[in-house]
Amino acid sequence: MASDDRLVGEAPTATRPLDVARLREDFPILRVEVRGKPLVYLDNAASAQKPRAVIDAVERFYAEQSSNVHRGLHRLSELATELFEGSREKLRRYINAADPREIVFTGGTTGAINLVAHAFGGRAVGAGDEIVISHLEHHSNIVPWQLLAERAGARLRVAPIDDTGALIAEAFESLLNERTRLVAVSHTSNAIGTRLPVKWIARTAHARGIPVLLDGAQAMPHGRVDVQALDCDFLALSGHKMFGPTGIGALYGKLERLNEMPPFLGGGDMIHSVTLEKSTYKDPPHRFEAGTPDIAGAIGLGAAVDYLESVGPERIAAHERDLLAYALERMRQFPGVKLIGTAPERAGIVSFTIDGVHPHDLGTALDFEGVAVRAGHHCAQPLMERFGVPATVRASLACYNTRDEIDALVAALGQAIEVLG
Ligand code: PMP
Repeated sequence: MASDDRLVGEAPTATRPLDVARLREDFPILRVEVRGKPLVYLDNAASAQKPRAVIDAVERFYAEQSSNVHRGLHRLSELATELFEGSREKLRRYINAADPREIVFTGGTTGAINLVAHAFGGRAVGAGDEIVISHLEHHSNIVPWQLLAERAGARLRVAPIDDTGALIAEAFESLLNERTRLVAVSHTSNAIGTRLPVKWIARTAHARGIPVLLDGAQAMPHGRVDVQALDCDFLALSGHKMFGPTGIGALYGKLERLNEMPPFLGGGDMIHSVTLEKSTYKDPPHRFEAGTPDIAGAIGLGAAVDYLESVGPERIAAHERDLLAYALERMRQFPGVKLIGTAPERAGIVSFTIDGVHPHDLGTALDFEGVAVRAGHHCAQPLMERFGVPATVRASLACYNTRDEIDALVAALGQAIEVLG
């Protein structure tokens, strides 16, 4: 595997470091107190917080611009359509898609993957065919393929990971064969942070004519994702993980793939003509956007993309790398801490257990100190099983987190262990 295959096309170092204190002022919620303590928000992998620019864009839409899209001839509908389609273009530019028709708005990553499972999978996957995933997938990138496999009489194959949580490349490669119809893997694991060698995965699958879907939910907020550099066929993403609103996300699909796919959901706005006997459908992306979309959400997502671009994905990646190293150093000082997931390539996610203390009790104890983390299986039960734990505590970082917040986490953990341990 060549060294540039490992990452996502981001610069190895950012020129100017982030001014985090300044950046935190953009996020109103970071000034909120929880249980009388300053909020320390380390649950970013579940959902990231929203900068003022995103909140304002959504509010402005409802207060001043609200109307349906692609329908009315009146000015407000034109404006809503311009803003909605403008967001599509912003997202296209951000992920370097070749054409705005390659961006389909969905409810999020889950919606995007299910769309591919039905519209692509319904045609491409038949009895005896195989779909390859990895052992560290989120349930959103497991269950839709299980459902497809059941419908089609196909089989799910799972590429194994090693004890650090890294993909075993040779084992992945050996799963690919003439029956493989799709490889669907995470770009970055939400539960343990592993970043998969996605460029190599795409090249390896494509060498055998197999298309590749990347679950990009956890990739988008942490650095640049360039779909042409990665050469993936599909990329699924969620707005709320990348500082945008909930309920909106997107599917990127290469145009030739989307063109081949029949509609998934039927309804208004996705048709050319309807008679009682037969309907004809629009071209992508509108073919896949039946019904009134989340217009405000899409506009908010566009504002989030503007925000990410203005901060700079490379600078975000550099800041989070530094913060992760600091967090790992501090965490290792705890007796009884077991880090789950120690792969060399990973995003700012620290998943751990502590001997003799249940993760849920730890999560609750941290909450009393105003420290928000997630404790549970992180919608990745097969991964938890692989590591022999029912759950972990997960601190997940974003661009606005600081070393002081890591210190607050560590202090709260120390207190919790004293009480619970
Ligand atoms: N995949 C990954 C890796 C995720 O982290 C998540 C959200 N936790 C999802 C898929 C699902 O995203 P959503 O709930 O926004 O559809």
